[in-house]
Amino acid sequence: MRLLLLGADGQIGWQLRRSLAVLGEVVALTPDSKNLCGDLRRPDGLAQTLQAVRPDVVVNAAAYTAVDRAETEPEAVFAINAIACEALARETQKMGAWLVHYSTDYVYDGSGERPWVETDLTAPLGVYGKSKLAGDEAIASLSSKYLILRTSWVYDSRGQNFVKSILKAAASRESLSVVADQWGSPTHAALIADITAHTLLKLSCHPAAENLSGVYHLAASGFTHWHAYACFVIEQGLACGLPLRVTPDKVQAISSAEYTAYARRPANSRLDTARLRETFGLSLAPWQDGVRAVVAELAGQSRFLNH
Ligand code: NDP
Repeated sequence: MRLLLLGADGQIGWQLRRSLAVLGEVVALTPDSKNLCGDLRRPDGLAQTLQAVRPDVVVNAAAYTAVDRAETEPEAVFAINAIACEALARETQKMGAWLVHYSTDYVYDGSGERPWVETDLTAPLGVYGKSKLAGDEAIASLSSKYLILRTSWVYDSRGQNFVKSILKAAASRESLSVVADQWGSPTHAALIADITAHTLLKLSCHPAAENLSGVYHLAASGFTHWHAYACFVIEQGLACGLPLRVTPDKVQAISSAEYTAYARRPANSRLDTARLRETFGLSLAPWQDGVRAVVAELAGQSRFLNH
C-alpha cells in the first residue's frame, strides 16, 4: 500500500508517521516540504503531488486548528479546512484512492446531554466548526471512497494542547480556574493514529470496502469535563514527580460564562462511537489511559516545564 500523509508534523500527523508505516510506504509531507507540495493553501500543487505520488490512500491530518484566531481569519481557515478538501476529494476520486480525513465535535452545536451520533444535525457555533463542516460536506459529495473520522479534545506529548498547558500552569501559578460545564472525551493522538491504521487494514481486506465509506466518530471511551480532566492531569503529574504548585483541590470549577474566549465552544461534545466500533470490530481505551501515558512521557523530559 502506498500512502500520502499530509500534516505530518501535527499532533495526529506525527503519530500517523509511526502507525501507518506498518501498512506500506508512507510519503509524509508538511506545509514546507521541498520537492512535493504539502501546502493545503495550494490546491493545484496538491493535485500535482497526488499525480506524482499515485497513492492508494491519502491521509489528511493537516488543518487550520486555531479555534479562536479562526474567528478573525475566515478566508484563510476556509482555504485550508474546506477548499483544500474539495481538491483532495476530486483528485483521489479520479485516481480511485481512499481519502481519510479528520473532523471535529465542533460541527455540532453542543446542545443537550446525549452523545452525538453521525446522523445528527450539524450546526457549528463558530468559523472553525463551519469550515470543518464545509470540508466534510465537500468530501462526502465528491468522493465514494472516504473515511471522515470526527474526533475531540486531542492531545499528545507534541504540539499545543490542554494537558501541556495545565501542567505548565500548575507549575508556575498558585491556583487555576477551569470550566466544568463542557463535556467531552480527551483523545490521545496515538489512539487516533492506531485506529486509522486499523481501519485501513480492514478496508484493504474487505470485499466491498466502498460500502464502509462515510463519517465515523472516533474518541476515547468515557466522558468528562475540563475541570475534572485538569484535576486528573495534575494528579498524574504529581504522581510522576513533577514539581507542581497547584494540587487538584486548588483547581476552581467555573462556568463557561466566567471564562473569556473569543470563539464559542460546544457544551456537549460527547461523541457516540458505536458506529466505528461495530463496523471495524474494535474497542476504544478509556480516556484516562492516554493521559497517564502522555503525562509520564512529559515528566520524563527534564526540560518540559521550562519551555
Ligand atoms: P495540529 O494543529 O497539531 O496539526 C495540524 C497540522 O496542520 C500542523 O502540523 C500544521 O502545520 C498543519 N497545517 C496548517 N496549515 C497547513 C497548510 N496550509 N498546509 C499543510 N499543513 C498545514 O492539529 P491536530 O493534529 O490536533 O488535528 C488534526 C486534525 O484533527 C484536524 O483536522 C483537526 O481539525 C482535527 N481535530 C483536532 C482536535 C484537537 O483538539 N486538536 C479536535 C477535533 C478534531 P504548522 O504547525 O506548520 O502550521
